[in-house]
Amino acid sequence: MREAIRSSQRIVIKAGTSILTGRDGWIQEDHFSNLCRQIVDLVDAKKQVVLVSSGAIAFGMQMTGIKKRPRNMPRLQACAAIGQGGLMHAYERYFSGRGLHAAQLLLTRDGLEIRKRFLGARHTLDELFKMKVIPIVNENDTVATEEIAFGDNDILSVHVAHLIHADLLIMLSDVDGFYLQDGSRIRQVSSESEIDSELVRHLKDTRKERTVGGMKAKLEAARVAMRLGVPLVMVNGHDEKGIRKIFEGEDVGTLFVEQREKKNARRKWIAFSAARKGALILDAGACEALRVKKKSLLPKGIVQLEGEFEKGQVVELRSPSGEVFGRGVVRYSSQELKRILGRKTSEIEEILGYKYQDEVIQRNDLVFWE
Ligand code: GLU
Repeated sequence: MREAIRSSQRIVIKAGTSILTGRDGWIQEDHFSNLCRQIVDLVDAKKQVVLVSSGAIAFGMQMTGIKKRPRNMPRLQACAAIGQGGLMHAYERYFSGRGLHAAQLLLTRDGLEIRKRFLGARHTLDELFKMKVIPIVNENDTVATEEIAFGDNDILSVHVAHLIHADLLIMLSDVDGFYLQDGSRIRQVSSESEIDSELVRHLKDTRKERTVGGMKAKLEAARVAMRLGVPLVMVNGHDEKGIRKIFEGEDVGTLFVEQREKKNARRKWIAFSAARKGALILDAGACEALRVKKKSLLPKGIVQLEGEFEKGQVVELRSPSGEVFGRGVVRYSSQELKRILGRKTSEIEEILGYKYQDEVIQRNDLVFWE
């Protein structure tokens, strides 16, 4: 497997705050240039690289002379807003010195849940690759705070890797990989069940890991990566050659790779990438029509709904007994559905004054839990 990893063409590299900063919490020049140099090497080797970089808060603190990381969220967001421009400027300065350019993409997990936006981001990234520009992604901290509160872009980087069909996600850490209590490095994890049992029980508490979510967040991200079929390798980001070693075939870090067939991309997105926004409770007839007769969902079969959601978002599907049996992408918002649930398709237009289509969820937009 390590051999296959070596030949990866599309690579996402995730660098958290602790990879870019020194003990004082401010951006450290040599850490920064070490990362950039290795990225340029990959681009020179004709690989397509996306960098998911934190460091906006750290840069903002630095610029305004704040020495201790603030504890309140709005102040952290403000620091990120101040620092993001500086961070991008630093990347652009480095890369332009090597004949390359950096592009800024501020994403949120919520944004990627909407198929239209997910595809919009994908098209932008594809175009940036064609232009030989290095996309630099960060969470849009002004409107989303998940990664500040927990994870420092760990999960976001998995979603970006999935978005671009990356062959590999390299997660840079303060440590050499995951270790067991007996001090041995976990070289490879090949199934999600390994994360649940052995790994969690015997995982060594590596306090050196200074990122917000630490190892727990990384493990959670690895789990999602495995579900999405994205190979993920965690290596030491402070090793000057940490990234290079992967491509030289060295057995470094911990590799997470699920050995199984890839599911259809859109179904995967529905099943794992999109967070549930609400739920539809269906009557028994509709449950059977969907699961057994492989039909689409019509308004008539919906008994009740929960939560607020927009057209295009993913909702959970429940049977009359409350069993969650699948997910689907709705073609009507919760506001619209409240008015048409239980009604015939021929009545939709009359009730709403318009109609997108008969189906609330189309056949191809449904995924069932086996
Ligand atoms: N998006 C934040 C940043 O770039 C996340 C990192 C953090 O929580 O320190 O600074």
